[in-house]
Amino acid sequence: MDFLKLGIIGYPLTHSLSPLLHAELMRGLGLAGEYAKYELPPDQLRPRLRELEQQGLRGLNVTIPHKVAVMQAMDWLSPQAELAGAVNTIVFEAQADEGGFKRSGHNTDIAGFMRSLPPQVVAALPHSHLLILGAGGSARAVMTGLIEARTQAITFAVRNPAKALSITSDGQLIKKTLNSPTQLNLVALETVSDLSGFAGLINTTPVGMYPQIEDGPIAPSLLDSLPETAWVYDLIYRPLETRLLQQTQAIGLTAVNGLDMLIYQGVCAFELWSSRQVPDTLVNAVRHSLQQQLETSPHH
Ligand code: NAP
Repeated sequence: MDFLKLGIIGYPLTHSLSPLLHAELMRGLGLAGEYAKYELPPDQLRPRLRELEQQGLRGLNVTIPHKVAVMQAMDWLSPQAELAGAVNTIVFEAQADEGGFKRSGHNTDIAGFMRSLPPQVVAALPHSHLLILGAGGSARAVMTGLIEARTQAITFAVRNPAKALSITSDGQLIKKTLNSPTQLNLVALETVSDLSGFAGLINTTPVGMYPQIEDGPIAPSLLDSLPETAWVYDLIYRPLETRLLQQTQAIGLTAVNGLDMLIYQGVCAFELWSSRQVPDTLVNAVRHSLQQQLETSPHH
């Protein structure tokens, strides 16, 4: 491969760590290329995609608000993108015989989340009941991975259950497709008063994200009711240590932030674009750079 032309589409595109992440991956693997930001308003999605593929792009990451709409513009969807109903990675393949391009849509948020889980957490999933706070786009990727891993049960706690009903109905379809036993429940966040039955808690809401770093998605006193072996995963990585994770550590439970999910969704996308394997040593170097970037300027 000569020059790897990559990028990200979204609107608006503010502070993304993806350019730094992919620059480090290219450098670490000795590949020449670029990763550019393309801000595309929704009404320009189709024509701009065509322009970019004609400019020789190998692939794109897709972020808010295009993850669902872009599916219609794909020639092929990976089984995981189809299950999750969202695409975060596009691969453009030149069709030598036809002179055109084939676009495939993937969802690496799912694999990114699963690869970021500690091995002992993954091993216990078939016996674990998990509590997920929130039911938006990232909760869907998390749910898809957890159903695929045959997690025993997932309860979603949300501020507005009527608005979130589709997550459990879509989840039932995913269960059926994958023949998975995962039980799915939806409850109002305000009714949650005891966490003793949960092996882990995952925050997929933006509550606690920079600059509102004093906020937390759940009352601190509730955390005390988690079992001693429980873990808490916050998808937020700005800041690296949210108020929720500080409280988790203060009571001696395992705390996981969203940085590894971000890194692994990027690594999985990069592996699709470059057909190269990213070694663990390079993942560690990338983590170090991103951590430094986030610690020195948390808002960038
Ligand atoms: P989203 O689609 O907007 O979903 C957010 C969810 O949080 C919705 O269910 C929303 O409920 C709920 N919510 C928002 N504010 C709330 C509040 N004050 N109290 C209770 N619930 C609230 O967003 P998303 O794309 O899933 O992203 C959510 C967070 O995950 C962000 O912080 C993002 O940075 C992070 N994230 C991290 C990664 C990673 O790689 N680490 C990947 C994706 C996302 P309503 O529907 O009622 O508004």
